[in-house]
Amino acid sequence: MKPLTFAVLRILADGEFHSGEDLAHKLNISRATIWNALKGADEAGLTLYKIRGRGYRLAEPLQWLDRTKIASALGAQANRFNLELIDCADSTNTLLMQKAALGAVPGSVIAAELQTHGRGRRGRSWHSNLGGALTFSLLWRFNQGVGLLSGLSLAVGVALLRALKSLGVDGMALKWPNDLMHHNCKLAGILIEVQGDVLGPSSAVIGIGINFKLSEQAKKLIGQPATDLYSITKILPERNLALGCMLGHLAQVLNTFAVQGFGGLRAEWVEHHVYHNKNVRIMLPDNAADEGMVTGVDNEGALLLKTRGGERRYSTGEISLRAGQTE
Ligand code: ATP
Repeated sequence: MKPLTFAVLRILADGEFHSGEDLAHKLNISRATIWNALKGADEAGLTLYKIRGRGYRLAEPLQWLDRTKIASALGAQANRFNLELIDCADSTNTLLMQKAALGAVPGSVIAAELQTHGRGRRGRSWHSNLGGALTFSLLWRFNQGVGLLSGLSLAVGVALLRALKSLGVDGMALKWPNDLMHHNCKLAGILIEVQGDVLGPSSAVIGIGINFKLSEQAKKLIGQPATDLYSITKILPERNLALGCMLGHLAQVLNTFAVQGFGGLRAEWVEHHVYHNKNVRIMLPDNAADEGMVTGVDNEGALLLKTRGGERRYSTGEISLRAGQTE
């Protein structure tokens, strides 16, 4: 989406009617240019009304990311983060990985109003719509080597769970290794990309996408049951407050992880695992599958499964977990 489209949308964000003339005057451009710029709103999942004689109006007001509000939600922790708010990114993880390679400081955060090519694991896509999600990435540095970061996506799940709880969102569950669920529908995804030495230090770009209010367009693109905070709580949480709260909890959890590894968070994670003590099916990269009952996770974040052939351990990476047959 073009910068001009964002400029027009910022004026329309109040959800009130604005005439083409008024918009053109405010931005010092022609009415035809306004019309052209707003053609892009559709792509971002917005519903825009154009009524003759009244002008343009968004179906719903839009909340923008705001540095001051995020810092105020973070309070004393604000100085741990180097926050960059951008209108549009292909993928905040890709962008932050590039910046990390150029020396971005640990604690760097990129949050995008709109992510157009969000990524999941193994080349899968993450879909979101303007104003209807939080999509952000955080760069964190560890003294541990990359091998010891295997439980990181699980640790991040604990941070998100704590943050949502403190925002009044209950009933959340975790799904190994990287999803946040509500009643078996996916609310948020985590994508971790690590760099560094086997013996350390290492760094991780932690990407998070969380649904606030999915557009019909986005819902159609998601190939599995998904939900958003609006459907769960019936009110749209303030995104800046939520982002500040999530970053605060991430900092706490990542500190625990840096000192104790995933072991320090394991009990809390297991308590919230949607498949704990349940039968599951494991999909392996070569299209093979395994079945068994989840008995827990170990200190590296690997899934422990009781199968017919005995206890098995599956580490995060190339495998996926699905509900199994109930007995
Ligand atoms: P796995 O169990 O292997 O992690 P997954 O389907 O959860 O499988 P991820 O890579 O974690 O895969 O996430 C990407 C998937 O999430 C997409 O393929 C899509 O099915 C789903 N998805 C994409 N966007 C959203 C969204 N906004 N909300 C919920 N789910 C989404």
